[in-house]
Amino acid sequence: MSERDPLVAGNWKMNGDAGSLDLLLDGVLSELSVLALRRCSVLVFPPYVYLGQVAQKLRGSIVGVGSQDVDQRTQGAVTGGVSAAMVKDAGCGFVLVGHSERRTLFAESDELVSDKFEQCGSQGLVPIVCVGETLEERRRDRTIEVVTRQLRAVTSRVGLAGFDGAMIAYEPVWAIGTGESATPEQAEEVHAGLRKCLAELDEDLSNRTRILYGGSVTADNAVALFGMKNVDGALVGGASLKANSFAEICKAAEES
Ligand code: PEP
Repeated sequence: MSERDPLVAGNWKMNGDAGSLDLLLDGVLSELSVLALRRCSVLVFPPYVYLGQVAQKLRGSIVGVGSQDVDQRTQGAVTGGVSAAMVKDAGCGFVLVGHSERRTLFAESDELVSDKFEQCGSQGLVPIVCVGETLEERRRDRTIEVVTRQLRAVTSRVGLAGFDGAMIAYEPVWAIGTGESATPEQAEEVHAGLRKCLAELDEDLSNRTRILYGGSVTADNAVALFGMKNVDGALVGGASLKANSFAEICKAAEES
């Protein structure tokens, strides 16, 4: 991999069932085989219960599998909990931590997100830490302050070695699932701010860490977003549920 080859990740959230996700994967694999990607990595994040099924189907393919979340504890009396070791056992190599839906719907704090990030590291899983501001925070000009606080909570916990290999997804809360993406310039400004924040820790780490953009990415806006210097790919929600639109986004990343 050259420094910061692009990556596109599909976050399927709480959608689909065994049959429909199998069909979606067939579509994705067929579309990607036509593209013959050389630079762009592709990941999908199915719901927990389908991780094993999806990982098995994708074994040997170019598409990697990740978990949308993980419990911060290692094991034990945690009814409903799913540990980092379990998602690894199911075939995952990646985990999303701190998605804004988790922060909002499940009141996940910066501290809890850091706990989860740390758990992923302890199992050799690659965490993708999601950061992003609300509309109100943007209106108050607090975007950089908010996203760097969310990032620093993790970096100060795990340090340089613990962050190495991880990724960041900048996902403005107001852009998720709304059809209103950040403009390429807005995304670039925040990505550059996040990279600067990482550079305070280590310049090389900052240069090699992928920062994905997420929030209403579509086949139509992907080319312009990926044209930005510090946008290294995308975390895609809605548009990842259709094989052709997801593949179009991968194509845009490949050609960026
Ligand atoms: C997401 O939830 O990570 C996301 C980016 O969703 P959407 O693409 O639908 O805005």
